[in-house]
Parts: sequence; structure tokens; C-alpha cells
Amino acid sequence: MSYDILVIGGGPAGLSAALNARARGRSALVVTNPLEENPLWKAGRVDNYPGMSAVSGAEMLSIMRRQAESAGVEFLSGRALSAAYLMDSWFVSVGSDMHNARAVVLAAGVARGKKFPGETEFLGRGVSYCATCDGMLYRGRRVAVLGFSDSARQEADFLKSIGCAVTYHDRPRSCTISGGSAVESITCDGVSEAVDGVFLLRPTMAPTDLFPGLAVEGGYVTVDRRMATNLPGLFAAGDCTGGPLQVAKAVGEGLIAGQSAASFAAELERKKQ
Ligand SMILES: Cc1cc2nc3c(=O)[nH]c(=O)nc-3n(C[C@H](O)[C@H](O)[C@H](O)COP(=O)(O)OP(=O)(O)OC[C@H]3O[C@@H](n4cnc5c(N)ncnc54)[C@H](O)[C@@H]3O)c2cc1C
Repeated sequence: MSYDILVIGGGPAGLSAALNARARGRSALVVTNPLEENPLWKAGRVDNYPGMSAVSGAEMLSIMRRQAESAGVEFLSGRALSAAYLMDSWFVSVGSDMHNARAVVLAAGVARGKKFPGETEFLGRGVSYCATCDGMLYRGRRVAVLGFSDSARQEADFLKSIGCAVTYHDRPRSCTISGGSAVESITCDGVSEAVDGVFLLRPTMAPTDLFPGLAVEGGYVTVDRRMATNLPGLFAAGDCTGGPLQVAKAVGEGLIAGQSAASFAAELERKKQ
């Protein structure tokens, strides 16, 4: 299905962007990891957000999500894996499906943790970020799954179900990926094993892995006052644009990004008439 606005990330920034796109009469889809995997979910108590005092992070996220749902925002549970801009539309892959929209708001929070040695070098040559997309390539072969979220185990089970020989590593601290023309082995937390593929299943990807060519500074997405990035129809909001890494700032930027994305979609519509 096609939407006016697609939002990547269902934290405070993404929920605010989608809510405000709906307030401008635009259809909005939020693609997001499960709410329980949002970093704010773990906050025992949030005291500095106006209007909600002494709430837990989980309560705050649930309230925001319910509000967006009642406003008609649609939700898709999953990880956005790649995006491409073609013929005035963004196409975003989620698992093995593709979704398109006139404008996208990137509200994916911060990607914590560094890349492992060999990860970039072997990307597409044995290293993958998506079990459902690339799993069939490894049918009958040995793969290591490095899981960094609770839902990663389900992706490892999927690989087993299609006939991969899977070893699962739960939130490994270190990993080195080695090989020649393709991946041949990994050393994970000091233990080496021969593998044909490595699936790195993190809840958040670096913004430039999702959007090649995206301008960043110090790892944060570069935006103007409309929260526009250097790519057409792509806006960004929240922690992914830099500090202060706080809910109120994320929600404010989400508002601007949602409104800017709505204006961008309206302008495209006008041009096509
Ligand atoms: C323990 C803790 C306590 C905190 N306490 C406070 C506090 O008291 N007050 C305060 O103001 N702030 C607090 N913060 C900071 C606050 O949580 C963040 O500033 C805020 O959540 C940022 O919102 P965001 O929407 O930009 O990003 P996030 O809340 O990080 O949301 C991004 C969402 O996008 C999802 N996502 C990322 N990549 C993808 C993808 N490719 N596909 C699909 N989904 C994706 C992520 O899983 C996540 O759910 C705290 C943070 C932590 C960790």
C-alpha cells in the first residue's frame, strides 16, 4: 500500500511526526520495532516532560502510541532495512516487503555500538542485516546469528526452519568477521567458528546504512530548520539528529518533520495535477 508519509521509528519523535502528519490530513504509516525494544521503555520514571509527571518510560510510550492510533496512524511492526527514491516516491523495505510513500521521516533514535571488524568489508558477501531477505541464500549452510534484540531469536528460528545450520550469539561484546572473497569464519567473544554467513540483527541501523548518500556530522543526521535532510522528501527528527537526547526535543522535532513531510507530499500532489 502507498502512503503520504512513512515514518521509520515509533519512539516519541516518530509518533509526534505521524500524529502531526495526520493532523494535516495525510495518511501515515509508522514502521517500528516493538515498543518494548524502545530505549525509553526501560526508564523507570520520567519527570521532565511537561504534562506527564512521574510516569515510567513504558507508560509514556504507550500513551503516545494510543494517541497516534486514535488519530488514524497505521503501524507496521518490523525493521526498515533499506530505502530508495524513485520517480518522486520513497520505497522502504521491511523484511521481504516493500512500502512506498511520498515523504519519509527518519526517527530511528541513535544507533548504539560500533561496527565489528570485517562487517562493512563483507556486507553482501556473507554479512547480512536481514534473515527474511537473505536467508534463502544460506539454505543448507552454516550461519551465525548475532542478536541484539529480543525479537532476533525469532529471525534465527526462521533461518533454522528453512534449513540453515544456525549458531546463536546473544548480544556478543566482540566479533571479528574474516574470509577471502566471502565470509569464512567469525571469532565471537574469543571463540572461533567456520561459517558461510553472519546475520547481524540490531534494532537500529546507522542512518547512512539505511539511506546511502545521507549527510551526517559526527554520526548525527544533518537537518535544516524544517528538519529536511539533503535527500529529497526525507526529513529527520529526534535523537538521530543530535542532542539534547531528550523526549521533549524529540517530540518538537517530530512535529516540524511531520508538518514538513505533509507539505512536501501536498506539493508533489499539486505538481502532478
Ligand atoms: C534509560 C533511559 C532513560 C531516559 N530518561 C529520560 C528522561 O527522563 N527524560 C527524557 O527527556 N529523556 C530520557 N531518555 C532519552 C529518551 O528516551 C530519548 O531522547 C527519546 O526516546 C528519543 O526519541 P526518538 O523518537 O528520537 O528515538 P527513540 O525513542 O530511540 O525511538 C526510535 C525507535 O525507532 C526504532 N528503530 C530504529 N531503527 C529502526 C528501523 N530501521 N526500523 C524500524 N524501527 C527502527 C527503535 O527501535 C526505537 O523504537 C532516556 C533514555 C534512556 C535509555
